[in-house]
Amino acid sequence: MSEAKESPLTKDSDDGSARLQEKILAEYPRLGLDDPFTFGCHPGVSCFNNCCSDVNIFLSPYDVLRLKKRLGITSGEFLDRYALMPVQKDMKTPVVLLRMSADDKRACPFLTEAGCGVYEDRPWPCRMYPLGMAAAKDTPDGWRGERFWFLLREDMCKGFGEATSWTVKEWLEDQGVEPYDDWGDAYKEVTLHKFFEDGGQLSPEKLNMFFTACYDLDKFRSFVFDTTLLQRFEVDDDFIDEMKYDDESLLRFAFLWLRFSLFGEPTMRLRPEAVEEIRGKAAERQRSRGGAAAPSAGEVTP
Ligand code: SF4
Ligand code: SF4
Repeated sequence: MSEAKESPLTKDSDDGSARLQEKILAEYPRLGLDDPFTFGCHPGVSCFNNCCSDVNIFLSPYDVLRLKKRLGITSGEFLDRYALMPVQKDMKTPVVLLRMSADDKRACPFLTEAGCGVYEDRPWPCRMYPLGMAAAKDTPDGWRGERFWFLLREDMCKGFGEATSWTVKEWLEDQGVEPYDDWGDAYKEVTLHKFFEDGGQLSPEKLNMFFTACYDLDKFRSFVFDTTLLQRFEVDDDFIDEMKYDDESLLRFAFLWLRFSLFGEPTMRLRPEAVEEIRGKAAERQRSRGGAAAPSAGEVTP
């Protein structure tokens, strides 16, 4: 079992995308960090800007965090203006795509004649191309399998005719991929959780909470600070102060909260009084049902 990431140039349907991923994993030569390739992308190439239209760009929570900060808008405004959130039957985790223009060009909203208008904060897929990344999942610790990379050669892309040579490592450094990968790893601890591998399905309410905590950070901040949530958990005071203003701290908390509340992982510690309260409620339910019931982490709500 492996996981493959898409290219920013992918124009396939979901089915096509799944087939592409299978093909990539089965057939594409695998590259390590020190393996070389030649590529160049600059305003002088004849295809400049051609790849920023009619593409499926999946956004991670960190992509949205960077872009909304860059644009100086709230997460809600970003999602309204720039994102598509397709809802599918039996969906396990939230999906957020960059919304292309509604006209025939279907251009990225951040595309300018001079190139990417949000270059320093462009999403992970835009940084990675022409590389894709995959990670073997069939290891005892799940998704933390060995990573490898591969080249995604799109016919329209003339960048492969350029003479600049790179190693994979050099490309990743040059494109500033590292923080995106670090946040991606933290997100995978939620999205690739064993709960899902074992066939678990979240209720619509929990899926909505998942989406809000990861993608709509400003709304999640209200949830954290305008409810009794923080009174129920032992959270460091300095960290609470940071979360008030710092989106990265809040996103870190969101991942911990989700792992606790969705999967019952011990990523957060309840205050003793909250434990007592939950036990009391469980006992009450128990009495009314006449059966045994133990409190679980997933029962905790603000
Ligand atoms: S974010 Fe920038 S690089 Fe990515 S598709 Fe849009 S314009 Fe192109
Ligand atoms: S060289 Fe490739 S990545 Fe660069 S603009 Fe052309 S198609 Fe896009």
